[in-house]
Amino acid sequence: MKFGGTSVATGENIRRVANLVAESAKQGNGVVVVVSALNGTTDRLSEAAEKAKKGNDEYVQKFKKELLERHLTATAKAIESKQLRKEVEQMIEKTLDELEKVLTGISYIGELTPKSKDYVLSFGERLSAPIVWGTLRERKLEAQWFTGKEAGIVTDSDFGEASPLMNVTAHQLRERIAPLLEKGVIPVVTGYIAATQDGVVTTLGRGGSDFTATLIGTALAADEVWIWTDVDGIMTADPKIILSAKMLPELSYQEATEMAIFGAKAMHPRALEPVMKENIPARIRNVFNPENPGTLISNEQTAEQRDVVKAVALIRDVAMINVSGAGMVGAPGSYAKIFEVLGKNGINVMMISTAVSEANISLVIRRNMLGRALSTLEIALLGRGLVSDVTAEDDVCVVAVMGANMKGTLGVASRLFTTVAHAGINIRMIAQGSSELNISFVVKEKDGEAAVRAIHEEFKLDNA
Ligand code: ADP
Ligand code: ASP
Ligand code: MG
Repeated sequence: MKFGGTSVATGENIRRVANLVAESAKQGNGVVVVVSALNGTTDRLSEAAEKAKKGNDEYVQKFKKELLERHLTATAKAIESKQLRKEVEQMIEKTLDELEKVLTGISYIGELTPKSKDYVLSFGERLSAPIVWGTLRERKLEAQWFTGKEAGIVTDSDFGEASPLMNVTAHQLRERIAPLLEKGVIPVVTGYIAATQDGVVTTLGRGGSDFTATLIGTALAADEVWIWTDVDGIMTADPKIILSAKMLPELSYQEATEMAIFGAKAMHPRALEPVMKENIPARIRNVFNPENPGTLISNEQTAEQRDVVKAVALIRDVAMINVSGAGMVGAPGSYAKIFEVLGKNGINVMMISTAVSEANISLVIRRNMLGRALSTLEIALLGRGLVSDVTAEDDVCVVAVMGANMKGTLGVASRLFTTVAHAGINIRMIAQGSSELNISFVVKEKDGEAAVRAIHEEFKLDNA
């Protein structure tokens, strides 16, 4: 069971989490708990790291106090026993002393590397796990808490977005976590964080606690992995945009992955890799509505699959780059050159579209990478006869429409684009993956929500 940031946001919520775990354990299940940081903490840590880098060590003190207060308040609300509370408070204080030293160090050196940033970002989960542990102990449950590193999750050293080394990780998880379950102990593991083979702290990418959960579930051959969050399951659209969005009771691994990649934030994009390989079902459930069975993600779909379009997502914070030049026409390797330059500079391309004329190519990337992408492209490509112009738009978003049944169904694209046109929205770029599981297109940011609404209505997703 993995609990997200909102699920552990306050002491009251943590009690709710502990009750759900206790209930399942009482029914005779072996449960491993994976916890996120209290919501917003990882963002705050990221800001603090940036401020520390600028030499602001007064802020370090203020920030430490803020985190201390929030976590002590949550502890006081979650745990009644004085003894247990004290134990947890001491853990929190010790961890925050360490954070203070790290941030102070960064402020003196004035340098924040991807490596030191991951170290800072790891503190959120290190602060939440002890509170959950204490709350379980108060319910007379045997529990033990670990960092991802202690639990045995080993990654490469791609800081910020590290990839687990699957075999050694699975082996270590089995060795360290499985025996506890056999003894009736509930392991509580920090999500999101891991370590390299040399023990240097890494993170699995934002939202990575989901990935931690599926890694552990797969290593231990769990019956199911449950991802508890603050909505009923994966929905036809972000319920924050479309109030009438409906929960999808079943999805295939491919569909759910497609949705995660395309910004249905409900899950980390790589989270389903391990469980899909071993065919372990995953379930997205609501902590605030546990009667609802949630979305089941598996290979078996029992319900009849009528709907061609299942869901629509909006991906903000992206930018579109257009590279053009008559020199690219018929020049083998010209696209390769563009991708090579971007790849070498750590810039991930989310979407591509080209015309048969070959005279231009449009790319979508994360907006925070735009500056770096433009400067590297300009340095590498301009003035060499291949590319004559590199332009960008940073006020755009991607709308992505998903559904396995789009494959081989005629007319989905035309219906989709007619709908968007009728809403008076101009489309800047289109891409359909050959998987035919999704069609994505770029519109101006101001039109994004309206496009999502129009599509949700046209395909009657709220009657799902
Ligand atoms: P957690 O903290 O539990 O990991 P996240 O914030 O990462 O939760 O993900 C849950 C949120 O994802 C929901 O509150 C919802 O607003 C958002 N979301 C976006 N698209 C979807 C979707 N299609 N279905 C469900 N949730 C979505
Ligand atoms: N706390 C991390 C984040 O905010 C990981 C997670 O919540 O899954 O990205
Ligand atoms: Mg999440």
